[in-house]
Amino acid sequence: MDGMNVVGTLFGDGKMFLPQVVKSARVMKQAVAYLQPYIEAEKDEASKPNGRVLMATVKGDVHDIGKNIVGVVLGCNNYEVIDLGVMVAPEKILETARAENVDVIGLSGLITPSLDEMVHLAREMQREDFHIPLLIGGATTSKAHTAVKIEPQYQNGPAVYVADASRAVGVVSALLSEEQKYKFHENTREEYAKIRERRAGRSTKRSVVSYDAATQAALELDWSAYQPPVPQFTGTKVLNDYPLDTLLPYIDWTPFFISWDLAGKYPAILEDKVVGEAATTLLNDAMALLNKIVDEKLLQANGVLGFWPANRIAADDIEVYDDEGTPLATLHHIRQQMQKNPSDPALRSLADFIAPTESGLTDYVGGFAVTAGIGAEALANQYEAAGDDYSAIMVKALADRLAEAFAEHLHERVRREFWGYAADEQLDNDALIREKYRGIRPAPGYPACPDHTEKATLFSLLDATHNTGIELTEHFAMFPAAAVSGWYFAHPESRYFNTGKISRDQVASLAKRKGMTNAEMERWLQSILDYDI
Ligand code: SAH
Repeated sequence: MDGMNVVGTLFGDGKMFLPQVVKSARVMKQAVAYLQPYIEAEKDEASKPNGRVLMATVKGDVHDIGKNIVGVVLGCNNYEVIDLGVMVAPEKILETARAENVDVIGLSGLITPSLDEMVHLAREMQREDFHIPLLIGGATTSKAHTAVKIEPQYQNGPAVYVADASRAVGVVSALLSEEQKYKFHENTREEYAKIRERRAGRSTKRSVVSYDAATQAALELDWSAYQPPVPQFTGTKVLNDYPLDTLLPYIDWTPFFISWDLAGKYPAILEDKVVGEAATTLLNDAMALLNKIVDEKLLQANGVLGFWPANRIAADDIEVYDDEGTPLATLHHIRQQMQKNPSDPALRSLADFIAPTESGLTDYVGGFAVTAGIGAEALANQYEAAGDDYSAIMVKALADRLAEAFAEHLHERVRREFWGYAADEQLDNDALIREKYRGIRPAPGYPACPDHTEKATLFSLLDATHNTGIELTEHFAMFPAAAVSGWYFAHPESRYFNTGKISRDQVASLAKRKGMTNAEMERWLQSILDYDI
C-alpha cells in the first residue's frame, strides 16, 4: 500500500492531478490483487487503514462520478471505503454505518431534491445519536446550504462541505486526527455560523415583487406579427439504437475535464502550462475508450422526441393538445419575481414564449428525452470488478458526454428538419456550444424551470420510459444517469434565464394548479424559495 500513499501525498501537494491519481490507483490495485496471498501472510499493524468511510449517493439520485473519484482518492490515502452506490435510502446508510462501525459518512448528490434528502439524513443522525463526521459533496451542494440547512440539524458531530476530490483527504484526515479534530470542528462551526448570520442579515433586503405584480410585468411578445412554424409531425418519434459515431462531432469536451477536476476550456486546456500534459493524456485515454465503445457498440443511445399543438392558457400555464384539440397535459412554469434592471424590466416565464389562446394562433411546443447510458452501468461494473476504477469512471463520464452530444445533435435536427424553422442553419460545434441558434431546449430542474416534478409530464407525453428505457426515480432523477431531457421552444425571442427566488404567493398558486399541497410544493422548490420553511 506504500505506493498508494506516495500517490496520495503527491496529489495532496498538487504535484499530481486527479486523472493521474485514479490511473495509478488502478496499477496499485491490480498489483495488490496479484500479491494478495503474500500480503495476507505478512499482514501487520502498518497495513491497518487510517479509517473507514461510508460513501453513498442519496435516495432518488443516480449520479456517482464525483463520489467514485473521491472513493479512489481516499483509497490511495489508505482509507477503507464502503461504497453503497446510488439511490441509497437513509435507513440503509445509517444501518450500514452502525454495522460496519464506520468513522465517517460521505453523501453525494446532483439534483436539488437531494439537498433535502441530506438535511433529512443529518436530522436522523442526530436523532439516532451518531457522533461521527458527515461529509457533504456533489454538484448541487454548497457550503452555504451545508451551513444553513444541514449543519444546524446535526449538532452531535461535524457536518462539513467538501468542494472537490482534492479536499476530501485533507478534511477526512483532519476530522479523524486526535490532534486536529476538535480545532477543525470548531473552526468549521464558527465559519458556518458566520455564513448563517450573514444570510439572516441579508434576507430582508431582497426585492421580490408579488406574484401578481410579476405576471403584470411579463414579457409580452407581438403575436400579431408571428407565424408559428409547423413541425413535420405531431406526437412522438422514437430514435433508438442511434449511431454513436454520428454523435462524436457534437461532444462538448470542456465539462469532461471539469468532471476530472481539470479546469480550463477545451481545446486550450491541452496547451495549458500547468494541466496541459495531464489533460492531453486524459483525452488520449478517453478517445481510446470512446473508439472501443463505438466500434464494439458497448453503449446504446436511445431517444424520443415529440411536438404538440400548444397555447398559453394562463399567466404561466401551457396547455398541450392532440391533433383534434383535446387537451393532453398542462405544463406549469415558474415566473421571475426579483426586480431587474430598467433596461430589461420584463419578468420572464417559459410560458411567455408560447402564443396565448386569445392570439388565435396554433403554436407548438416540443419535448425530448435521450440517453447514451444503456449498458454503461454493466460496462463500468466490469471494469470495477477488474480493479480498473479509472476506466469505470471514464465510461460514465463518456456516456454523459455522449448523452449531451445526442441532445445537441437532436436539437440541430429539430431546427433543420423535424421542426424545420432553420433548414439552412450551418453552425460548427463551437457555435452550437455557444447556442448561436434560434430556439432553446430548457431542461426541467435547471434554472428556467427548476421544478423537477414537471419531468413526470414530459415523460408521460413522450412515453419516454417505454420508448427509450429511461426511468425516473422518486426524486425525478433520470436513470441511466447519462440522460438529458427537456422542452423545445422555437420562438426567436425564447432564451434561457434563471427564475431566481420566488415568494409564498407563487408557490401557493403553483401548488393549487398542480394539485399539490403547499408543503409538498415547497419541498420540491426549496432551493428557490425566498423564505425559510
Ligand atoms: N454543451 C454542454 C451543455 C451544457 S448545459 C454539455 O455538453 O454539457 C446546456 C443545457 O442545459 C441546455 O441545452 C439546456 O437543456 C439546459 N439549460 C441550460 N441553462 C438552462 C436554463 N437556464 N434553464 C433551463 N435549462 C437550461
